[in-house]
Amino acid sequence: ANIHIGTIGSHSALNILKGAKDEGFSTVCICREREKKVYESFGVADKFVIVSDYSDLLDENIQEELRHLNTILIPHGSFNAYIGKFDSLLLPMFGNRELMIWETDRDRQREWLERSGVRMPKKYSRPEEIEGLAIVKYPGAKGGKGYFIVSSPEEFYEISDEMVKKGLIGEEDIKNAEIQEYILGANIYFSFFYSPVYGRVELIAVDRRYESTADALGKVPAKEQIRANINPTYTVIGNFPVVLRESLLVQAFEAAEGIVEVSKEIAYPGMVGAFCIESIFDENALMYVFEISARIVAGTNVGIPTSPYSYILFGENMYMGRRIAREIKLAAEKDMLGELIY
Ligand code: ATP
Repeated sequence: ANIHIGTIGSHSALNILKGAKDEGFSTVCICREREKKVYESFGVADKFVIVSDYSDLLDENIQEELRHLNTILIPHGSFNAYIGKFDSLLLPMFGNRELMIWETDRDRQREWLERSGVRMPKKYSRPEEIEGLAIVKYPGAKGGKGYFIVSSPEEFYEISDEMVKKGLIGEEDIKNAEIQEYILGANIYFSFFYSPVYGRVELIAVDRRYESTADALGKVPAKEQIRANINPTYTVIGNFPVVLRESLLVQAFEAAEGIVEVSKEIAYPGMVGAFCIESIFDENALMYVFEISARIVAGTNVGIPTSPYSYILFGENMYMGRRIAREIKLAAEKDMLGELIY
C-alpha cells in the first residue's frame, strides 16, 4: 500500500490529517465512534479505524490493520495522555520516542531545560522555602487542574490539608508536590520544528492558551473572589495566535537551539520535528521556560493555514501538520526516512 499518515482523532488531528492531504498523502484517522463525525465532516480522513478507547491502539489487531495500510503515526498530546507505553506500539512513528518519554517526567524535563541554559522558574525543594508567590503542582493533577497558588509555607499546608480532607490528594502527595516560583507575566507558547532534512530550527507558530477558570478571574471583582474562595484552574479550552514583539524573538531562538543541542546528548539522535517551548515573559520581558513538549501541541492549530512566521519562512501556506508531512515527503525522496521515524 502507499504510505498512510495516521493519528488519533483528537488534539491536533485535523491539523495533522489536513497537512498530510495537502502534501499528497493518504490518511487514516483512529477514533471512537462518537468523534468520527467531526473528522468525517471535515473530509480529512481517507480511512477510519474505529476503537472503543484510544488505548486500543496498543491492541495487536488494530496495529496489524494499520501496518497493512503502511501507516506512519504522528503522535500528539493524546498519545502521552491516553497511551503512554510506547514500547508496545510496534508501528513506525514520526519523531523521537525517547524524548517524548523525557518530556513526561518533571525531573528529567528540568534536567534537560537546565542543561540547555534557559531561565526557569525557581524550584522549591521544601514548602518551608516558599517566599513570594509560588505555584504548587501535585502529581496526577492533569492539565493544570488541582494546581494552586500560595504565598507562604503556612498557606501551602493549609490548602494541602484541605485537599487531603476533600480526598483530592493523599497524605503522601504533599511530600511529592512540585513547588515553583510563580512567574507573573505573559504566557507564550513557541512551536518550533527541527528539520533533520534541512538541519535547522524553524519557528512555525506562536500562541497562548484560553484557560478555564484562570482567564475568567478578571471578570469577578477581587472582593467576591475572596468571599467565594475562588482559585484559578488551568483547563485548556482553546488557543489564541500571538505575534511577539520582534526584539523578544532572539530569546526564543536561543532557547530552541540550546534545547535541540542538549536533546542530542540525552536521547540520540535528538529532536526530530515538532516541539513546543512553553514560557512566561515577566515585566522586564525576560523569558522563563516552564515546560517543553517534544511533539506537536494543540496550540499550532491557530496556525492553519499559515502563521506570520511560517509564511515568512516558506512563502506559502505552511502549518505544523503540513510541515510534518512535508518533512516525511522530502525525507522519502532523499532516502532519509530512517532518520525521522522511530
Ligand atoms: P500541559 O501538560 O497540558 O501543558 P500541565 O498539567 O503540565 O499541562 P502546566 O502547563 O505545567 O500544566 O501549567 C498549567 C498552567 O499553569 C499554565 O497556564 C501555566 O501558565 C501555569 N504555570 C505553570 N507553571 C507556572 C509558573 N512557574 N509560574 C506561573 N504560571 C505557571
